Amino acid sequence: MNRILRLFRQKRAKIVYRSEYMTAIYARDNHRAFDVMKFKKIRDQLVKEHLITRKDVLVPPRVSDEDLLRVHTKKYLESLKNPLIVAQYLYLDYVNPWDEFIFEYFRYVTGGTILAAEHAFEQDLVVFNLGGGYHHAHRDKAEGFCLINDVAVAIEKLRAEKKLRRVLVVDLDYHQGNGVMLIYKNDPDVFTFSIHGATWEEIDKENNLDIELPSHTGDAEYLEALKSYLPGVVERFQPELTIYLAGADPFKEDTLGDFELTESGLLERDQFVYQQIRQRKIPLAVLAAGGYGPHSWKIYFNFIKWVITKGNIS
Ligand SMILES: [Zn+2]
Repeated sequence: MNRILRLFRQKRAKIVYRSEYMTAIYARDNHRAFDVMKFKKIRDQLVKEHLITRKDVLVPPRVSDEDLLRVHTKKYLESLKNPLIVAQYLYLDYVNPWDEFIFEYFRYVTGGTILAAEHAFEQDLVVFNLGGGYHHAHRDKAEGFCLINDVAVAIEKLRAEKKLRRVLVVDLDYHQGNGVMLIYKNDPDVFTFSIHGATWEEIDKENNLDIELPSHTGDAEYLEALKSYLPGVVERFQPELTIYLAGADPFKEDTLGDFELTESGLLERDQFVYQQIRQRKIPLAVLAAGGYGPHSWKIYFNFIKWVITKGNIS
């Protein structure tokens, strides 16, 4: 076994991915600013640099209706069986058969978020889903290209089956995780921590820390906010599991966000979150969340590579 692979075993990190993450969205490779090859690129680069082998990749199943119904209403889920409605939810002109597949994509990627959270919790390690983080979806409607709230579906499945109660959601996507916050508005056992540029809704929630930063925020101001507030939250809340939305859209080259974080600033952000959680031996599931433009894949890749090669916390 070569040195890097040995290190990977020591780090006890895993990747969640399956080819359906890509096939469902291939047909519309011009979709907005989103690089549809992003997650395949990350997987391929991890293989190319000998950072992972087939054994390090967990292949998720399609999420079941039972799991979806813990969060979403029956009426809303029924509506998603109609590809015309799906196209409307995603602000797209209906193109057959693409919109027949898109709900399937969400089913697989939600299965991936569940698997990442379950595996992290059971094995006490860090697991990266190469996708997920659809934090705008509500119980009864889609929003911001998010059909299924995979974060809440995973939390509710683990709570139902693993007797887990307290979950911290660290959401550092450029956009506010309003869907997750609303779903847990009256549930203080899910702490929602979010730093964002765009506030979608003012939400009054116990155990929520919502930090809005101005346009053009750079590394120094962003990292100062993160480092000032996150440690106290982790210390006081004592989560049994943390789900981290490591959105790449605060990147200065992102085509949607207007923050100016650099590649190294974002890696420092990810390292800080990782260390805050793992030094307290809290299981950590990481989701890709947003990130737009041709260079976006590199941000998540850098984080995974760092964990595999250097991120060990003894
Ligand atoms: Zn975003």
